[in-house]
Amino acid sequence: MRIGVLKETAPRERRVALTPDAVTKLVKAGATVVVERGAGASAHCDDAAYAAAGAEVVEASVARGADLVCAVQRPEPAALADCRAGATLVALVGQGADVTLAACAERKVNLLALERVPRITRAQSMDILSSQATVAGYKAVLLGASAASRFLPMLTTAAGSLTPAKALVLGAGVAGLQAIATARRLGAVVTGFDVRAAAAEQVLSLGAKFLAPEAVAGDAETKGGYAKELADEQQQKVLEAVGGAIAQSDLVISTAAIPGRPAPRLITAAMVETMKAGSVIVDVSAETGGNCELTVPGETVVHHGVTIIGPLNLPSTLSLHASQMFARNVQTLIEHLRKEGEIVLDITDEITGAMCLVYDGASRQQGAA
Ligand code: NAD
Repeated sequence: MRIGVLKETAPRERRVALTPDAVTKLVKAGATVVVERGAGASAHCDDAAYAAAGAEVVEASVARGADLVCAVQRPEPAALADCRAGATLVALVGQGADVTLAACAERKVNLLALERVPRITRAQSMDILSSQATVAGYKAVLLGASAASRFLPMLTTAAGSLTPAKALVLGAGVAGLQAIATARRLGAVVTGFDVRAAAAEQVLSLGAKFLAPEAVAGDAETKGGYAKELADEQQQKVLEAVGGAIAQSDLVISTAAIPGRPAPRLITAAMVETMKAGSVIVDVSAETGGNCELTVPGETVVHHGVTIIGPLNLPSTLSLHASQMFARNVQTLIEHLRKEGEIVLDITDEITGAMCLVYDGASRQQGAA
């Protein structure tokens, strides 16, 4: 079995799908790994480290011609010309991928979408959404702290005493819980909120307060553990709760998301205008439109003295560790797909079936996870 690792071409993408430590394990298990020259450079994994791990460093067309081709983001459709019929491509596929799906079907390249790993215990170690959301939640707090006009911790110094910052984290899924833990470590007084009832206990267990238990919806959670879109009345309760707390917050990290839908709007312009000048909002959901009405994806704007950061691809900014976590997820997936030394796609399998968007020349219709 030949595993190919591609160099990323998307703007702002600094990660690599397999790092040298993951390559070592795959080579030990009998695989041949071919890595495109320079694939790991922006994640600080150089070609020599891949060679030392037992990989061959090759030109792009050779890496694309492997049995299993790994990338962080879906490659340009033109790159698929080098893939062979019957090969499998694993990558984050994302929205608006019709041309890629058609190209895979035409070339009989099987396509597994990494963001579609089911949220089940058995698949936890392959769950790229979770590993990368962990990175995003951590980095969002650091961005917010460095843009803030005040310390996060309480300080008692000869130059006076300073009160701790108040942080509000909206959405307490994987990214939100990591943001809560990080803001707490930096000394902020943290309040968290989520519409899913199960999140309240997790917020409290991290030593944060839980905002407005009355705004939690009993039926907000799908079978897969995700949130659903809220009914208007429930959404109104959430907006009231957020509006009531945001004016006292120095740092807001918003991570609320609904799979396959635009990010829920939780912070209006009027709410921002109640905040103190010098406060910061980091909108982790900027990529899907943002939780704040004033967020501009990829930019930082200042409104009434409040800085609103709309970061894109936060995991990529911590390229080494994000890649290591990504690679561990991909390596576990490869082990799952491998039968007697070869990649075997069993689309009746709960994990493989949920991820497979193109199989044997045909697109597979997929509902929401
Ligand atoms: P996500 O990125 O889709 O959403 C982030 C958070 O936003 C979620 O917690 C969601 O409830 C919240 N949210 C949505 N609408 C909101 C609103 N209007 N107001 C406030 N919050 C809102 O989700 P995620 O972080 O990827 O995962 C969510 C949950 O799924 C996890 O906390 C966990 O319970 C479960 N999960 C399970 C597994 C597993 O079992 N393997 C793996 C990962 C996640």
